[in-house]
Amino acid sequence: MQIAAKYSIPFNKPFIVGKELYYVAQSVLSGHTSGDGEFCRRCETLMEQRFRANRVFLTTSCTAALEISAILLNLEEGDEVILPSYTFVSTANAFYLRKAKLKFVDIRPDTLNIDETQIEDAINERTRAIVPVHYAGVACEMDKISEIAAKYQLRVVEDAAQGVHAAYKGRYEGTLGDLAAYSFHETKNFICGEGGALVVQDPEFVERAEIIRSDGTDRQRFLRGEVDAYQWRDTGSGYSLPDLLAAFLYAQLESMDEITRKRGEVYALYKETLGPLAERGLVELPVIPEHCRSNFHLFHVLLQSLEQRTALIEHLRDQQILAVFHYVPLHDSPVGHSLGYRRGMLPVTEDRAARLLRLPMYYDLTEADVMRVVSAIYEFFQVERPR
Ligand SMILES: *Cc1c(COP(=O)(O)O)cnc(C)c1O
Repeated sequence: MQIAAKYSIPFNKPFIVGKELYYVAQSVLSGHTSGDGEFCRRCETLMEQRFRANRVFLTTSCTAALEISAILLNLEEGDEVILPSYTFVSTANAFYLRKAKLKFVDIRPDTLNIDETQIEDAINERTRAIVPVHYAGVACEMDKISEIAAKYQLRVVEDAAQGVHAAYKGRYEGTLGDLAAYSFHETKNFICGEGGALVVQDPEFVERAEIIRSDGTDRQRFLRGEVDAYQWRDTGSGYSLPDLLAAFLYAQLESMDEITRKRGEVYALYKETLGPLAERGLVELPVIPEHCRSNFHLFHVLLQSLEQRTALIEHLRDQQILAVFHYVPLHDSPVGHSLGYRRGMLPVTEDRAARLLRLPMYYDLTEADVMRVVSAIYEFFQVERPR
């Protein structure tokens, strides 16, 4: 990972929008900086109301929320979980930890989300869950995925790490399945250093989720005065987000509309100014289907080849601009190979992974910065930029 300071335009940059530090100070002064403090409750309530979520639990990360989800599903060795290969490792690891068998499915060429038309072929009598990942904040085809899940009685766990405040047909990502995981890692839209949330849409899971998140104890019930002592009741771990971090996060969530609006402006500016290159067939630009509302988590372009992408990364780096590729497909990793996967099995994933480049995208990115990036790309293609 390169150090941001080396670049005049880094790929990502943590930011402050408003009252973050004021709330952090309040959390300290309240005397409760660990999990389940006042700011934790405020963040959870804000998300439950804004996203019309049944129950939200803050966690130390999206990874933690995925791990809790995998425990909730009571997976047994050999049970199968369907997921894309073009995703972050924790989507897979959470289920791999529970000894589930991972069934990687290829992605759609347009949104780079799991190809819903290929899911049914991956289902057998051991299949227990589908894990759609909303890439770049653009939703998977959830109507079709929910229909398949209902037909085969499978659970749906959304990896909505990138999908906070984005929607599908008017419903927020994270509320479209049984369980979902959000991320507040510094590379995401709303940040607190590292953090996450588990969204529990199916009420059946609420009580046990709370216990798993509290080291497998009923400590929360004890704190509410519902039991005299708390005890070890289940498997679990210390998955609660400290109030200190929730305080920072709360300020960001309060500014959710403003943050999304600004990212949307950057996205629109990239899309408009790079349009002529796309018309000439030099790059492909991202696609947001009509029925999806993005949170503009990232802006990516597809180059014509891996070699061309490498050359463009170097060209941008020479101008102190950091642009980065994304996932090395999980099926083509050492663990993927140990599970019997080989290169060539998921052609769309492999093709897109080799050609995709993410451009700088963060809250404080200015219009002038965006235009510098765009100009550098035109220069790379030796095309005059239209004024
Ligand atoms: C960022 C990310 C994660 C992990 O989030 P953490 O909060 O860092 O654990 C998981 N899945 C996807 C798709 C992500 O983008």
